[in-house]
Amino acid sequence: MFERFGRKGNMKINVKRIPEDGEVLVGADPASIMELEEPDTRFEHEVKYDLLAQLQGTAVLVTGRISTPATLRCSRCLRVFDLPVRVEEFVYHQELQGEDFVDLTANMREDIILELPQRALCTADCKGLCPHCGKDLNKGPCRCQHSEGDLRWHALDNLNLKLK
Ligand SMILES: [Zn+2]
Ligand SMILES: [Zn+2]
Repeated sequence: MFERFGRKGNMKINVKRIPEDGEVLVGADPASIMELEEPDTRFEHEVKYDLLAQLQGTAVLVTGRISTPATLRCSRCLRVFDLPVRVEEFVYHQELQGEDFVDLTANMREDIILELPQRALCTADCKGLCPHCGKDLNKGPCRCQHSEGDLRWHALDNLNLKLK
């Protein structure tokens, strides 16, 4: 379920104030602009931006970079971890019809969410939890010794084959 915040901190640009050679916008918006609060995907850190806004005829063009850590739950070991998310080529282009402000918030949010991994993994080689005892195998082996058990069963299988 999504929880809506909709408070201040939207990324609005006053297009009437953009100088001819463009305006550099560097700063950070609060995590609440992400408007995403799911158990396994949250944003708890500010959204940093480094943008250049330019007027192009009757349109405004904003390009640059955005970044924020996403707080995710590892799909293997269930640990909650922060993953840095970077949008290296943010582009916003909007024809102007006399408005004073354009609001980039929805575009920034969408681009960040597109950068999220399909399956969250705390590390690429996360060992996950033991399916038998639930121990986090990243912290060391458990006492189930399932791999040894598996080997024993293989030996039995081979034996059966020989007896036939
Ligand atoms: Zn993990
Ligand atoms: Zn185990």
